[in-house]
Amino acid sequence: MSLEGKIAVVTGGSRGIGRAVCLRLAAMGALVYVNYVSRSTAAEETVKIIEAAGGTAKIVGFDVADSTAVQQAFKTIVDEAGSVDILVNNAGITRDGLMARMKESDWDDVLDTNLKGAFLCAKAASRSMMKNKSGRIINISSVSGFAGNAGQVNYAAAKAGLIGLTKSMAREYASRNITVNSVAPGYIETEMTELLGSETQDQIKSEIPLAVFGRCEDIAGAVAYLVSEDGAYVTGQTLHVNGGMYM
Ligand code: NDP
Repeated sequence: MSLEGKIAVVTGGSRGIGRAVCLRLAAMGALVYVNYVSRSTAAEETVKIIEAAGGTAKIVGFDVADSTAVQQAFKTIVDEAGSVDILVNNAGITRDGLMARMKESDWDDVLDTNLKGAFLCAKAASRSMMKNKSGRIINISSVSGFAGNAGQVNYAAAKAGLIGLTKSMAREYASRNITVNSVAPGYIETEMTELLGSETQDQIKSEIPLAVFGRCEDIAGAVAYLVSEDGAYVTGQTLHVNGGMYM
């Protein structure tokens, strides 16, 4: 499935799931803008891997929660590349803790990055998509947003919020041929899940029907389907990629 000539922006594309998505979209022929917020070397590494495989990619550093920076970045991309055809809102953070002890700043940081960031980037990207009457937006949610998770009221609220954002945007933008969907990963092998420690990891695996964590490539494959021609008639949906953890 070719994305030749398409311009894709992947927030948090420097590592983990975002990197796998960048690699996949570039392999399909898209010019990929790899976003990061603090680890420029990781973003450079992603670009190097893409180029070594014969693809094209550029780095674009900005904080998705910073409205001015987001607007500036998307303007620069459109000036430089001509359009934004695909946006993957993948940037995300965790600040886990039981609600009784959760600091207000932990709530704000997670909501700002994981939910407001997606709103700001989608709003900025949709200008170019509306003009071209074509576009694909994918919001990376989480199983936590559907099933809830003790210790993650902030994260689960943000990820559930992304589903409302996805469905409402899908309705608003359908007439412009812009589809908006979500992918909800279960537990995927990344730095985010490494933080859990091996005991918690084993406990979680015992609750997953397929009994293993997913790979970043599993999420990239779901995104690839939704942005491809095969996914053209799918909008407002969530693709659950979680080993059967939530059905
Ligand atoms: P990682 O922690 O491995 O990577 C996070 C990425 O987000 C990095 O590229 C980071 O950039 C970027 N980022 C963080 N904050 C910002 C910000 N304010 N502005 C721009 N970029 C930012 O995460 P994962 O790969 O594990 O997760 C990716 C997405 O998938 C997240 O939305 C996460 O919630 C979701 N998810 C992950 C699951 C998992 O099991 N791993 C399960 C369910 C959902 P930098 O490198 O500069 O720090």
